[in-house]
Amino acid sequence: MRKFSADYIYPVSSPPLEQGVVITDDDGIILAIEARERHDPASLQIYPGTLIPGFVNTHCHLELSHMKGMMDTGIGLLEFIKGVVTRRQALPETIEAAILQAEQDMVESGIVAVGDISNVADSFPVKSEGRLRYYTFVEVLDFLRHSGSEKAMNNALDVFHQVHPAPGSTASIVPHAPYTVSATLLDKIKSFNKPGGITVSVHNQETAAENEFFQSKTGDFLPFYAGFGNNLEEFEATGRNSIFYEMNGLHPQNRNLFVHNTFTTGEEIRAVQAWSPNVYWATCPNANLFIENRLPDYRIFLENNARVTLGTDSLASNWQLSILEEMKTIARYQSYVSFEMLLQWATLNGAQALGFDDTLGSLEPGKKPGILCLEGLEPGERLGMGARVRRVV
Ligand SMILES: [Zn+2]
Repeated sequence: MRKFSADYIYPVSSPPLEQGVVITDDDGIILAIEARERHDPASLQIYPGTLIPGFVNTHCHLELSHMKGMMDTGIGLLEFIKGVVTRRQALPETIEAAILQAEQDMVESGIVAVGDISNVADSFPVKSEGRLRYYTFVEVLDFLRHSGSEKAMNNALDVFHQVHPAPGSTASIVPHAPYTVSATLLDKIKSFNKPGGITVSVHNQETAAENEFFQSKTGDFLPFYAGFGNNLEEFEATGRNSIFYEMNGLHPQNRNLFVHNTFTTGEEIRAVQAWSPNVYWATCPNANLFIENRLPDYRIFLENNARVTLGTDSLASNWQLSILEEMKTIARYQSYVSFEMLLQWATLNGAQALGFDDTLGSLEPGKKPGILCLEGLEPGERLGMGARVRRVV
């Protein structure tokens, strides 16, 4: 048995506790959370700071880790995608070493689980080791060519069958984004993913051009596609914003994780949440600043009781893979989001979005969430820019 105490404990699933004690067994499974006065001080490991559960990173692309520092910032999403598509090739040993290092960075920054996008199988050997709990999202896209949907789906199935998840980890096949997946491919994905019990993630409304493209088939996506030799003859505007097209490929019974949402409106959040009670909204603030130099307006999400989760995106579009750094960015630019809310986004909401809340996301008896000590909470419970975490368990 081990007993950990600190100035404060934030279990996330229950109110914060001053000078509490978290009691675990030798494997890190929480047995109880109690007041400090019930315990002999000599039996406690006492930390200066705040004990919190391990972080859940709901959006990453481990297989792009070798692209760290390769892309310019502020170039906009379409230039960014072009760069990734044309520059991601590298030697297998370079890719593998970068994935290993990126995972190690995540472990050290207090992350315990990851929703990780895979187009190829490069990250699977590392993920199979089970150092972190992974939800692998095998991503499929046909660049809006119905005629290419079968080949795209077969490729995805081939990758999917190479996933050998460690115990507690799992996988699904997911659409990349509305602007890269034909209606035929959306149908195929929907019939592969049976309704109920799985998580499906999809990139959503990351750039303003996306809605314009679906509304009227105009804007920056036309030259983008022309650059790949695609004249978009198989695509027709829907007259509505892209998120409604995307929903055609999703089952409301599943956990659906919309990623980025920089241009999502309150009306759209309400419509999607009325369609399904299992909707989650992942935000990757540092990647949004890196690529497009803007952030979602989080007030819209708070006003609509949206279940927000945090993600780092890949090292191609971020300076590091750290959920704490994502929290700091929100605390810096939209400081009305309280520390408690940020912590819930960073832990329990993410665990629920991935279906990993059986063991992760909160300090509760029976869970093995990982325990972190956070130092640098300022008076008034503001997350200081110098805040840091260390792993306790
Ligand atoms: Zn992404």
